[in-house]
Amino acid sequence: MSLPLKARLGRIIHALSYAGGISTRMTRRQGGMRILMYHNIDGAELSAKPFRAGLSYLRRNFSVIPLGELVRKQEQGKSVAGNEVALTFDDGYRNLATVVAPILQEYKMPATFFVCPGLIENRQWIWTQDLRERLAIISPVQLDQFAAEQGWPDWDVERLILRMRKMPQQERLAQCERIRERTKHFAPSRNSRNEFDLMTWEELSGLDPKWITIGSHSATHPILSSMPLGEMAQEIAGSREMLERRLGRPVESFCYPNGEYNEAVTEIVRRNYTAAVTTEWRAVGLKDDAHLLPRISAAGTPSLLAWRMFRPSA
Ligand SMILES: [Zn+2]
Repeated sequence: MSLPLKARLGRIIHALSYAGGISTRMTRRQGGMRILMYHNIDGAELSAKPFRAGLSYLRRNFSVIPLGELVRKQEQGKSVAGNEVALTFDDGYRNLATVVAPILQEYKMPATFFVCPGLIENRQWIWTQDLRERLAIISPVQLDQFAAEQGWPDWDVERLILRMRKMPQQERLAQCERIRERTKHFAPSRNSRNEFDLMTWEELSGLDPKWITIGSHSATHPILSSMPLGEMAQEIAGSREMLERRLGRPVESFCYPNGEYNEAVTEIVRRNYTAAVTTEWRAVGLKDDAHLLPRISAAGTPSLLAWRMFRPSA
């Protein structure tokens, strides 16, 4: 399917702006520091080739520093030369150990991996990905029947996930369990496993602390604000304890699952971490709250990445 005209024009503008160095100049002029957000490499979102090209672009034009150093500079009101960038990777997919970490080491670039120790421990996927894959194996007729039994208005997977995101935690877990029960015969394909399997404890322990810092992404990637306070604290503080105990390395930063938080969540995060990152898309300014740091979603091509550095919402 061909791209709509607007998207095609956008691509041309990003490419020209990248090639002519305009994107880089605009980013420098804007100042500030930037935290990039990645997820999967070699999965559906981004493959290794454009990832490498993006790193080369960053190396040529910016200074890639550890997230902790960026936070220190921000808190001290220092620097903001407009060329500091920190790399972050959410969810802790296995391909971060097999593909990303070796590439980062090759480029001599530090990064922070935000992982979910509860999911690692139970060898589970992030619940939204698990649901999508499981519901995909149920026939439309069975899905209709299942939806009627559950009292869902329809069985559209994305609408269901959206509704489940707003449910109280217990209700959401029960719903997930019913779907698991219904799809007992589910056996993920090799591709799905490549994309969604998370790192094991062994893989996580094997990451070189010189380049990779570990942060918490909660224990099980729930919707934190939908949980009773005690469980919320366990997800936030307990995940740190578990990671530090299992890995024997300090865990000082937190990443809000689904970028979602409320006052109670941030209060517990403040008590347990030095810094936290969100999914608000923009550069980091000197006055930003260290526990609500904005990021920029890293894009597939270097030209779009360069564009988003100064136009984060693109
Ligand atoms: Zn996540």
